[in-house]
Amino acid sequence: MLSKDEIVKSVPQTGFVGQPKGLFTLFFTEFWERFSYYGMRAILIFFMYYELHEGGLGLDRGTANSIMAIYGSLVYMSGIIGGWIADRILGTRKTIFYGGVFIMIGHALLAFPGGVTMLFISMAFIVIGTGLLKSNVSSLVGDIYADTDNRRDAGFSIFYMGINMGAFIAPFVVGTIGQTYNFHLGFGLAGIGMLIGLIVFKVTEKKYLGLAGLQVNNPLKPEERKKIFTRFGIVALILIIATVAGILTGTLTMNVFSLIITILGILIPTIFFIYMYRSEKTTNDEKSRLLAYIPLFLSAVMFWAIQEQGATILATYADERTQLNVGGFQLKSSWFQSLNPLFVITLAPLFATLWYKWGDNQPSTPRKFSYSLFFAGLSFLVMMIPAHLSGGETLVSPLWLVLSFFLVVIGELLLSPVGLSATTKLAPKAFAAQTMSLWFLTSAAAQAINAQLVKVYEVVSEFTYFGFIGTLSIVMGIIILVISPIISKAMRGIN
Ligand code: GLU
Ligand code: ASP
Repeated sequence: MLSKDEIVKSVPQTGFVGQPKGLFTLFFTEFWERFSYYGMRAILIFFMYYELHEGGLGLDRGTANSIMAIYGSLVYMSGIIGGWIADRILGTRKTIFYGGVFIMIGHALLAFPGGVTMLFISMAFIVIGTGLLKSNVSSLVGDIYADTDNRRDAGFSIFYMGINMGAFIAPFVVGTIGQTYNFHLGFGLAGIGMLIGLIVFKVTEKKYLGLAGLQVNNPLKPEERKKIFTRFGIVALILIIATVAGILTGTLTMNVFSLIITILGILIPTIFFIYMYRSEKTTNDEKSRLLAYIPLFLSAVMFWAIQEQGATILATYADERTQLNVGGFQLKSSWFQSLNPLFVITLAPLFATLWYKWGDNQPSTPRKFSYSLFFAGLSFLVMMIPAHLSGGETLVSPLWLVLSFFLVVIGELLLSPVGLSATTKLAPKAFAAQTMSLWFLTSAAAQAINAQLVKVYEVVSEFTYFGFIGTLSIVMGIIILVISPIISKAMRGIN
């Protein structure tokens, strides 16, 4: 077994904006992966519900939004499997590579006209691929720094910028081509993006990442191997048989499937918590921290539920309810997906400076989470204004969406970077390898709930929809604010 020290020594420690060279590889791999993911999502919603003669699949809008949410949920849920495979079978580097290959195939499948079946096959590839790649590429960032290296936080911030730069550019490239020429060409471009990411990864990994991510940290013992593979095989077989039987008998409808995912989205984190709490390896302090983590986890779920609707409900809003002709210039509805990452890129440095200046006087993690819920709530409440003014009929100014995305990003910057580091500190040591996947479960659960929520948009007024969800978030924010001293205390010395 290599020690952390030996691994860090094998990574050239400078050479990329004052950071270890390995960060270059991870930055660009993730940049291109996110480019492909968010590029694809920027047009997928329209591809699903546009009529056949417009090049779409002709699904109804509610179903399309629900599929987007299920898809998003599964993409983050599968991170658990990706983390496990890296930790016990393949090591991080190989897992990332295979993940990228799966993702690329997934996008390539959509580059050809193939209908709903092809869409589902492509989704399966991307769900598995992202599960293998995303949480592992992020955890590898942590591996290239010595434990005492104070550049690590900056490294993660740069990496986060890479994510959002990919997400920012994608709608202009994939979105423009997809909406101007045809969707398949757009999906093809997303695939090419992932291909570039894979090439960068393969060409630079040996030199820049040294030994990082090569070792299998907790390899399966031979006797475990057989047991686990048999169990896995049986479960997979049951799932396949149940799915085929469900489809053939007509019982597995889209509604039933989305309900299953919603239940799983809630059940998986619940089981995870109970398992960690009852584990013998979890100490008493860690148990207290786990309890403190629960309200933070729930807040994050509420936050992502709103944030992710930027790619579903607000995307359709941009397409159908917004005045896209501005002074003779025709905006593309997919471009609105660039607003979130644009604001992240521009505001993140501001927040970093603010926290740095405030030092020990900055708000505690629970308080940041509570403020984050206020902003998320506000981002929906402001949408009540155009709903009221337009009577839900006439087209509204695109500036309403700009304002809404701006507000949600303030919330995002109060929660997303903080949340990951809180998870690292609050999760029991014995489960450190699963930390990244645990955090992604907040997004998975949020979108699992969205799979049902977005259908409500079809039956109530915009005013009621945005008003209800916005208020819910703010109420939750108030509750977290009130109990924040209790949470902080239960965190036992961590802030
Ligand atoms: N938007 C960020 C990303 O794609 C955060 C995702 C999340 O935690 O939901 O990496
Ligand atoms: N802000 C998101 C993330 O950090 C990107 C997006 O929603 O477009 O990647």
